[in-house]
Amino acid sequence: MSEQDKQDPALEDGEKLTETRFSRRGKKRDMPGGLWLKCENCGQMIYRKELEEKARVCPACEFHFTLPGRERIALVLDEGSWHERFTDIRALDRLQFNDSVPYLEKVKRAEERTRQTEALLCGTGAVLGREIVLAVLDFSFMGGSMGEVVGEKIALACELATELQRPLVIFTSSGGARMHEGVLSLMQMAKTCAALADFGDKGGFSVCVMTHPTTGGVTASFASVCDITLAEPGALIGFAGPRVIASTIKQELPPGFQRAEFLLEKGQLDRIVRRSDLKSVLSRLLDYAKGSKVEKSKH
Ligand SMILES: [Zn+2]
Repeated sequence: MSEQDKQDPALEDGEKLTETRFSRRGKKRDMPGGLWLKCENCGQMIYRKELEEKARVCPACEFHFTLPGRERIALVLDEGSWHERFTDIRALDRLQFNDSVPYLEKVKRAEERTRQTEALLCGTGAVLGREIVLAVLDFSFMGGSMGEVVGEKIALACELATELQRPLVIFTSSGGARMHEGVLSLMQMAKTCAALADFGDKGGFSVCVMTHPTTGGVTASFASVCDITLAEPGALIGFAGPRVIASTIKQELPPGFQRAEFLLEKGQLDRIVRRSDLKSVLSRLLDYAKGSKVEKSKH
């Protein structure tokens, strides 16, 4: 996360954002036991069970809440097709970074809370029968921040997709680069872009789906350089936060600034896809990339 991002409380600590807004253990629980929560978009009180049944889409305004990584995988892939890879790569504290808590202690807490070893889940699976390599950045693990492990796993996902000759599908939700790893986290921006460029040069096909929120160094690197860039409705997508930009350029920002719909209009996105349509849209894109149906119809 850049210095600029740090000034914006909304992006200051992705973990905190998850805790307060999305987690059952959040301090700002609206009711005891967390049975109800308030939609951050329309303010409607939502019964949590109903929200979970609707794949965490607000029943009142259709706001697409951030989805935990494993729920995303279950939603996108065919049942039983997921095989996770590269789970043994763990974060190192090269800078001996210590703010209120030592860095590795934070990682350990995130591991315990999410029951996964890093923010990026990577593996193989199938979307309506089409085999892919899938990488999902999970906001609930330290705000989906990108450190060395996330960068390495994106690079490995590209190599795996090349080896298996499969398309690569990436889902992002992130507060940006992981500040605890300093410049090493920023280096992952170049590394992931290089890995995707190499994958593309070898004929690989990649799709990124940006989900709420995708910010900082993740937006400015691998999330934006895939062959197709999709987003979920209403997703916040940007580099620095809106307040930082407004105070820097000393201008009022236009309505809907940094939301998916605004970025579609400006040409940064190819399409906005509702969560309920995701599987069918992805499978169609995977077919287009493969071109098998077109060829078959010709002969
Ligand atoms: Zn709502």
